[in-house]
Amino acid sequence: MSTDTTPEIRLAGLRKSFGDLEVLRGIDLEVTKGQVVCVIGPSGSGKSTLLRCVNLLEQPSAGTVTVGGVELTDPDADLDRERRRIGMVFQQFNLFGHLSVLDNVALPQRRVLGTDRATAERVARDNLARVGLADKASAFPAQLSGGQQQRAAIARALAMGPEVMLFDEPTSALDPELVGDVLAVMRSLAEEGMTMLVVTHEMSFAREVADRVVFMDGGHVVEDGPARQVIGDPRHERTRGFLARVL
Ligand code: ADP
Ligand code: MG
Repeated sequence: MSTDTTPEIRLAGLRKSFGDLEVLRGIDLEVTKGQVVCVIGPSGSGKSTLLRCVNLLEQPSAGTVTVGGVELTDPDADLDRERRRIGMVFQQFNLFGHLSVLDNVALPQRRVLGTDRATAERVARDNLARVGLADKASAFPAQLSGGQQQRAAIARALAMGPEVMLFDEPTSALDPELVGDVLAVMRSLAEEGMTMLVVTHEMSFAREVADRVVFMDGGHVVEDGPARQVIGDPRHERTRGFLARVL
């Protein structure tokens, strides 16, 4: 058992406004190394904005973001370097259609990390195998199902060697029969000890895989607790109301 309780991700007093609209209204959230935390909540509650603030794709209006002990909101932080430690997977997979699956996974390593071609391709193949796509390396994205494309996108993120992985509704764009394969890959990542912050509507995944579930509403964390408790026996009326609509 790991006894390391250093927060791998730490958000403190995080606020984000777009013009007059305050989308995040003071978020405190910690994810310990190796933990899986699922974020649930209604549409528009600020879940994607929260995730995008973790790697500073959005610049917070106030508060701090610390990943692996480095404060990314420090004006002196080297964001290009720090972001390499944070993998992100979106609802839309954003693969390059004109590149093979192998090249999609190998290219970011070469461009961003300066990895040589042979090494990048070996790492790409290893990670394609990890997501069950060893036999699709030379295929093009359009030849893959949505679920396979999303697994390729996960392999692309993993190939950069991230310390934490952020997932923003990774299965929401998929046909229902393709969701399971993507969740299985995420589950195996969790079992390997990857630190993961996952926005999802998949309540059974959250219940079974997450250490904690965070319910957001109106830019606040309304409830944050063990997955089974938040989903099975929520303390707050707003959490109960949300779960009654989605379960
Ligand atoms: P969720 O992911 O929970 O559905 P979002 O974080 O995407 O919520 O959005 C929260 C609110 O912030 C919404 O009202 C959305 O319209 C607004 N918002 C998100 N991004 C932007 C942006 N770049 N500019 C203006 N408003 C935004
Ligand atoms: Mg969203």
